[in-house]
Amino acid sequence: MNNSPYVIIGNGIAGITCARHIRKYNADAPILVISGESEHFFSRTALMYIYMGHMKYEHTKPYEDWFWEKNRIHLKRAWITDINLHQKTIHSSEGELIPFGTLIIATGSKPFTIGWPGEHLKGVQGLYSLQDLEQMEANTQGIQHAVIVGGGLIGIEMAEMLQSRHIDVTFLVREKNFWDNVLPEEEAKVINRHIKAHGVDLRLASELQEILSDEKGAVRAIRTAAGEEIPCQFVGLTIGVTPNIEFLKNQPTITTNKGVMVDQFFRTSVPDVYAIGDCAEFIEAPGSHRKNIEQVWYTGRMHGETLAYNLTHSDPMPYKPGIWFNSAKFFDLEYQTYGWVPNKIPAVLDTFYWENNEGTVAIRFTYDKTVGTIKGINTIGWRMRHAYFDRAIEEGWLFEKILSHLDRANFDAEFSKNYTPQVILAYNKAKNRSLSLPKKGLIRRLLTAFS
Ligand SMILES: Cc1cc2nc3c(=O)[nH]c(=O)nc-3n(C[C@H](O)[C@H](O)[C@H](O)COP(=O)(O)OP(=O)(O)OC[C@H]3O[C@@H](n4cnc5c(N)ncnc54)[C@H](O)[C@@H]3O)c2cc1C
Repeated sequence: MNNSPYVIIGNGIAGITCARHIRKYNADAPILVISGESEHFFSRTALMYIYMGHMKYEHTKPYEDWFWEKNRIHLKRAWITDINLHQKTIHSSEGELIPFGTLIIATGSKPFTIGWPGEHLKGVQGLYSLQDLEQMEANTQGIQHAVIVGGGLIGIEMAEMLQSRHIDVTFLVREKNFWDNVLPEEEAKVINRHIKAHGVDLRLASELQEILSDEKGAVRAIRTAAGEEIPCQFVGLTIGVTPNIEFLKNQPTITTNKGVMVDQFFRTSVPDVYAIGDCAEFIEAPGSHRKNIEQVWYTGRMHGETLAYNLTHSDPMPYKPGIWFNSAKFFDLEYQTYGWVPNKIPAVLDTFYWENNEGTVAIRFTYDKTVGTIKGINTIGWRMRHAYFDRAIEEGWLFEKILSHLDRANFDAEFSKNYTPQVILAYNKAKNRSLSLPKKGLIRRLLTAFS
């Protein structure tokens, strides 16, 4: 068993999962986790709820503070600025040299910007870290109007956060529809309507040109590419995130592209140095229809688990991410996606999309055009069981069979509305098929379908 020190830079979900699992498999090895952002691991996905007053920072920590000492996982608050690979040391901004046996880079992401004029003015910021949240708290005191730039998941969270404080929001989205580089057009339009219904001034196909300053160096307005000036006291830049690997810029032996390049065992180009989580970029995508950089919570956890196993076992296993899954909330509207549902449906797939009359609940299936096996599913406003679709896609169940028994996949069969009959009837009509409605409770289902 390797008992030289494991040093992990980054105490996010990837780094912390790795530390916990190394300890699970190896009771003795020294483990040190370093982060400049916070002393303890917290849930980044819950940042918005702190601002909205639903949670305190303390509540976002998945483990009590005593957990780390009890498990002999040493924590250090420091920013790492360099690595000496010869001496196997990392260097902190305070000038400290920290020795490592095995180094795990788990430094996450940072907000992406494109250098807009005025992006460094007071009141202009992204949202990623605890420090960003503190800055947002200060920047939004007593303001009336905010502009958010970039139609992704962090942008819509920011809109909800600002609105919870009664700050008017203009939301500039470059694309024709919200998040339509990910969502097919119909789903994106459901979200467009939902955002507008929440009182957000959503501007589609609208681009930021520059951010304008007042006489004190704070934002006073933005100008769009179309020349419109929109007065505001806060600008949220949320066009995406990029791996946070600035500290490796003087380190040419660790190969980087956007992120730190890794193979399927999370090995970098340097022995004993690994990278996981948002900052890792796979040399080869880890599965078909998967991306080389995975910037979501659950994949960070899987990276951490896999690497910890490999570092402590003699039979290393390649990373196998399984079926793609993601979920999000657009204000109060839940979205889930499983498997392969690209925004533009390619010729090898067939698709069926259903939406309720109010345009607030939607479901899309993609399936193999030739043999009819399920490939993916999107749901909006209707939560499905993760395990069900994971298995259905993995095992290649027939789409029509799934559709006939869709109520079995319903997450909350007892209390939530079941739209299975409407979906089947719509499918039969659209595709000229004659699938029967689920037999159990047929009359009740039909009554619900037309209620
Ligand atoms: C507001 C927001 C909401 C999100 N919501 C969701 C969601 O609902 N679902 C979902 O799947 N994903 C969500 N994400 C994405 C998800 O949080 C990330 O994919 C995940 O946190 C990445 O984990 P990580 O461990 O790779 O890195 P991180 O969580 O970024 O942790 C890396 C840590 O390393 C530290 N660090 C970086 N560089 C250095 C250095 N040089 N020295 C010392 N420390 C350093 C960082 O400060 C940070 O603390 C959200 C992200 C944000 C910002």
